[in-house]
This record gives sequence, structure tokens and C-alpha cells, in this order.
Amino acid sequence: MRLLLVEDDSMIGESVRKGLRQDGFTVDWVKDGRAAEAALAGNVHDLMLLDLGLPVKDGIDVLKALRQKGNRIPVLVLTARDAIADRVRGLSAGADDYLIKPFDFEELAARIHALLRRQAGRVETAIRHGAVTLDPATHAVTLDDRSVSVSAREFKLLAALLERPGVVLSVSQLEEKIYGWDEEVGSNTVEVYIHSLRKKLGADFIRNVRGVGYVVPKIS
Ligand code: CA
Repeated sequence: MRLLLVEDDSMIGESVRKGLRQDGFTVDWVKDGRAAEAALAGNVHDLMLLDLGLPVKDGIDVLKALRQKGNRIPVLVLTARDAIADRVRGLSAGADDYLIKPFDFEELAARIHALLRRQAGRVETAIRHGAVTLDPATHAVTLDDRSVSVSAREFKLLAALLERPGVVLSVSQLEEKIYGWDEEVGSNTVEVYIHSLRKKLGADFIRNVRGVGYVVPKIS
């Protein structure tokens, strides 16, 4: 899962990014409203964490413009304790949830997982696909109820494919899911991770569509 963090406070931004990365998310961090809009235009993020008091362009204005364009990315607003009016404005402008600063990191992660689940139309925490389950909240992958050990990037790649069974994702789309802007993309790494996942989950679990990309076939 790739998140866009919009926060002008360096200390908060640094600690949120660090915590979310440790939690297995890919995180891109920008510090003002215009940079947020430029990042959103790339359409690579699964969720936005949005501070409202931002330089250059206010968080509320970023949010309003986003929703006016019909963009439905889940948005979690990060707001100051005393600003009830801000929270109300945020929700009316199209935020899905909010969290008051200073917040507990575990609560932040839980709310992110809940929003992503809702966006994907799931009730359960884990994604099930045939004999395989993947739980974004606990990072557990199982095959036939037995635990399968996967690396952080293998996990992200598998999650991206399992979120949309039957949809072929290109190598560059998969790279976008597993690398943030400041992370260097190695050559052939997607292929290497796919190879490793196939060894662990079965050769047929992830199919290659020649010249297009990879897919976890739908179960009919
Ligand atoms: Ca701020």
C-alpha cells in the first residue's frame, strides 16, 4: 500500500513516515498543498494523510478540489486538538476520517487499515483468495492455514495483486506500489519477487501475461 503524507511539520512528518514504513507501507511525504496536488496527479497512492494547516495551499482547498474532480482516494485528516471547526470542515469537504494530534501511532495505523478495507469493500481484515490469505494489519500470509514467510516488498507486491484479482498489473504499476519516490528501483526486482512468491505460493498462483504484466486470476 502506498500512502501520501501531507504534513508541513518536520517532526510530525518524520515520525509518521518512519512509523508507517516500519508498518510496511510505502510512504511519500510532501510539505505543502501544491506539492500534494502534484503528487495526487500521479494517481499512484492508495490513501492520503492530510494536515489541514498547510503552506502555499490549505489542506481544505486541496481536499475540495480533489473531490470536485471526482477523485475518491480515502483521505484521513490530521488536525489539532482544539479545532472542532476544522474537523467539521474537513469531513464536509470530503475527508473519510480524522485523527487529532498528537495521536497514538497504533490508532493511526488501525484507522488507515480500516479505510483501505472499506475502500476495497471488505468487511474482514484479511484478504482471502483460494488457499491464500493476506492480512494487511498483521502482515501475515498463510497458505492452507500455514504461515508463509515473505519479505516486506514481496508482501506489498502480493497485496497489490490480491486487492484486484483478475486485473493485470504491469511491472511499472507494481513498482509504483512497492517503491516510494526516494527509493531506488533495482532492475528486474519485480520479476525476482514474483519468482520468489511463486515458489512459496505455487507456480500458478501468479500468472504472467506476456508483454502486459502479472495477475492473480479470479477464482470462478
Ligand atoms: Ca500544519
